[in-house]
Amino acid sequence: MSILVFIEHDEGVVKKSSLEAVSYAAHLGDSVSAIAFGSNVQVDELQNVGKAGAQKVLHVADEKFNQGIIQAYASAIAEAKEKEGATIVVLAKSSLGDAVAARVAVKTSASLASNVVDLPDTSAGFKVKRSIYTGKAFAIVEMSGDNKVIAIKKNAVAVKEDGGQATVESFMPTIKDTDFNATITGTEKATGTILLPEAEIVVSGGRGLKGPENWGMIEALADTLGAATGCSKPVSDMEWRPHHEHVGQTGIKVSPNLYIAIGISGAIQHLAGVNSSKIIVVINKDGEAPFFKAADYGIVGDAFEVVPKLTEALKNS
Ligand code: FAD
Repeated sequence: MSILVFIEHDEGVVKKSSLEAVSYAAHLGDSVSAIAFGSNVQVDELQNVGKAGAQKVLHVADEKFNQGIIQAYASAIAEAKEKEGATIVVLAKSSLGDAVAARVAVKTSASLASNVVDLPDTSAGFKVKRSIYTGKAFAIVEMSGDNKVIAIKKNAVAVKEDGGQATVESFMPTIKDTDFNATITGTEKATGTILLPEAEIVVSGGRGLKGPENWGMIEALADTLGAATGCSKPVSDMEWRPHHEHVGQTGIKVSPNLYIAIGISGAIQHLAGVNSSKIIVVINKDGEAPFFKAADYGIVGDAFEVVPKLTEALKNS
């Protein structure tokens, strides 16, 4: 089985979620190629994708592809799929991944499954397990047809590191003007060095922190852990924190290895954005706060006492 993986990178650094997608492909197929876009990613970075199991990386180094023009990416991926003789396209579930996946599926008449958490069951057909209802349930979906597009949920697959270096091959897809009908005229980077949807660790604060002036201790804990900062909806509604930090049903859905909720009650709408987290730690002064029911570890205590002590202890550990 030959598989093509779409690689996302952040200013030249290949995203961990894409390495997870490559690792998934390596477990599934015997021939794994990948495709990456942009002149701003270095060849040695792409060679290292081999460690996760890709034998080859097609590099579309034309500057025109530096920005995430979804239509152009989808056309190039469909062409690369044909060139590599791949039947399955694997990518990481993300806003870009989902948009690309849908277009590639249409262009290649493929079946599509997103938020996939496990290798397929191929004993009878091709059945994949999808995470649904914000991680509360799973759906087993039968994918039909030879061509398939599979988007992998973040943190669902361990990254393989035992492969060799991948061969990086320059690839220039046929460029159609219609692929560049929409152009991105400017981008603005969100505050914070670690992006919330990508974060391995998230430190999140709620209304229990009383005001924006108290966020220093949240940032100090996040810095110590190398974490992104998040918040509950009221906190962003009151403009204590920017809206892109709002976690929950109506905000960002996160699936980090560790989610630390501080002064957040644990309303169902907040939990809807965090219940795919591997480990949840709750710090709340009310032992009856609903969040404790969803927590792996909890500290009943005043955040203003607990958080600085925790940060200090972590710094000294
Ligand atoms: P509160 O409910 O006020 O809780 C504050 C917590 O802090 C309490 O548990 C309290 O015990 C604790 N606390 C107070 N002082 C301290 C202290 N010193 N130390 C430690 N703990 C302390 N909410 C979201 O977050 N995300 C969403 O996406 C979202 N979507 C929504 C969509 C809809 C349609 C609706 C109706 C609501 C939505 N909400 C969402 C709002 C949600 O219902 C809750 O109102 C909200 O999550 C509560 O935020 P909070 O926990 O920060 O505040």
